[in-house]
Amino acid sequence: MRDVSLWLGVLGVEKTVIERLVFDEDADLLVAHVRPTSRARSRCGICARRSPGYDAGEGRRRWRTLDLGTVRAVLESDAPRVRCRQHGVVVASVPWARHDAGHTYAFDETVAWLVTQSSKSTVTELMRIAWRTVGSIVTRVWADVDARCDRLAGLRRIGIDEISYKKGHKYLMVVVDHDTRRLVWAAPGRTSATVREFFDLLGEDRCAQITHVSADGADFIDTIVAASCPGAVRVADPFHVVKWAGEALDEVRRGAWNDARALARSEPKRARGRPPADAAPRLGSERAKALKGARYSLWKNPENLSENQRVKLAWIAATDLRLYRAYLLKEGLRLIFTLPYAAAVEALERWISWARRCRIPSFVKLQKSIVKHRARILAAIEHNLSNGLIESTNTKIRLITRMAFGFKSPEALTALALLSLGGHRPVLPGRT
Ligand SMILES: [Zn+2]
Repeated sequence: MRDVSLWLGVLGVEKTVIERLVFDEDADLLVAHVRPTSRARSRCGICARRSPGYDAGEGRRRWRTLDLGTVRAVLESDAPRVRCRQHGVVVASVPWARHDAGHTYAFDETVAWLVTQSSKSTVTELMRIAWRTVGSIVTRVWADVDARCDRLAGLRRIGIDEISYKKGHKYLMVVVDHDTRRLVWAAPGRTSATVREFFDLLGEDRCAQITHVSADGADFIDTIVAASCPGAVRVADPFHVVKWAGEALDEVRRGAWNDARALARSEPKRARGRPPADAAPRLGSERAKALKGARYSLWKNPENLSENQRVKLAWIAATDLRLYRAYLLKEGLRLIFTLPYAAAVEALERWISWARRCRIPSFVKLQKSIVKHRARILAAIEHNLSNGLIESTNTKIRLITRMAFGFKSPEALTALALLSLGGHRPVLPGRT
């Protein structure tokens, strides 16, 4: 075999002997017949310990590797079994692929990198594999990363959040590192067992190092955090607090919309076609229509409003004082999180007394939760824990859950999330 090192490089393999190359013209497929070098031979597929041979296994096998230009390529080799002291009879390890994988390392790493960078169809078309296969690949690439590095080392300030997907039927529990701004842990579920799993993995010593925990959501999270990290300062998540305010506001908008619809029902029905010039105005139905479309004007930050949405907001200010007051209450609460600490303390007091007297039930109720969480809200401002992190992680994971639809297992979803948003992003083979 000439140009051995060239071909090893082209096929993206090492510790490998290339016996011969065969080009199958009908299948447009390059088959590289290979075997492990003698040092890499006869090792357990699980632990890589040198082990005595057992039998020839199921004969020759193929592993897909990266295309050579436009030509598909596979490695073909014997796949004998060995008897490992610890793992019993297993297929021997090969230096070009993970145990039990049908693709080479180079192929796996390329897919893992690509899936964190581009769309589903780009990955499946370019690599010529099914989406499910992508799921298996990211799962095994992540398992390797996880075994190699301690992703929970050095955690000080963390945020715990639960993210719903599949229209709220499924949940993912996630932990972010406020200091590195990375996702460090994710698992399917939203039970106390899910949260406990994280703190068990973290262990007592590392739990003792945690100084701040931001969390929102179920009460059991609170209980477990208090028991696991008794020394940590508890902070509220500004992102969730602002979200509550948005929900309270939407309740008022829906109320106003229902009132307008009730009025519309009492108005005389119109015949088909253009109404006559002297027809009575149908205030209720027009108002209901406008309110239905006002959701985004009320919900968005004012600096991001479009011209149309600004006009709609002005219309609400002029025609529905109660809804506009609810809007101002929501905005007032959101702005508190942008203030320096001393000003925020004062502003929050003023907001609470304003909301207590506002006579809008959803905001009176919100005010009660704000009072309950006051210390934690102020702690978030004092310690400058950014809400942007939880919010953006939340949004990105939601996109990933949509992308992961079609993966066989929830492990593939968490693997994709951790590879995309964690501290160990995949790198392309052959690059450093
Ligand atoms: Zn073994």
